[in-house]
Amino acid sequence: TKPTLLVSACLLGQPVRYDGQSKPLSSLQWTTMRQRFDLVPVCPECLGGLPTPRPAAEIVGGNGGDALAGTARIQTADGDDVSAAFIAGAERALDAALQHGCAQALLKANSPSCGNRQIYDGSFSATLRDGQGIAASLLERNGIAVWNETEIDSLLDPEPPQAV
Ligand code: SF4
Repeated sequence: TKPTLLVSACLLGQPVRYDGQSKPLSSLQWTTMRQRFDLVPVCPECLGGLPTPRPAAEIVGGNGGDALAGTARIQTADGDDVSAAFIAGAERALDAALQHGCAQALLKANSPSCGNRQIYDGSFSATLRDGQGIAASLLERNGIAVWNETEIDSLLDPEPPQAV
């Protein structure tokens, strides 16, 4: 049997982004991923009960870990606090990963939920900074390795041979 892989639903062509669009992988990437893994699509923001389309949101005052700890908030540009929905969605994404036995996840870069290396800085000026989104942070805290769509080559690398 193939290993399972949690995947951002928008990377699999599901139109779940805040703007109602998707960001699909190339057909070659998609084919390769399906050959290697049983894919488990999730959209944390949808799982948190947010509608699509929805206002764009950014983490204000920290990163995903700070938001989980309650020391940063997730806000829309209008100042609406959507932290509770984002945190609930991250928890449901983790539940799905654990239920399906996913050791790894392929998540959309730069998202306030899914970003694994960078996120927008909370100023709504399209400025990235280092940090993780809320779902990516929660997954990694629970031992699930998170990659983004620019890191697929690393994700597909075979495990190094075990020392004998
Ligand atoms: Fe894609 Fe993640 Fe945003 Fe959902 S929350 S649209 S899966 S980047």
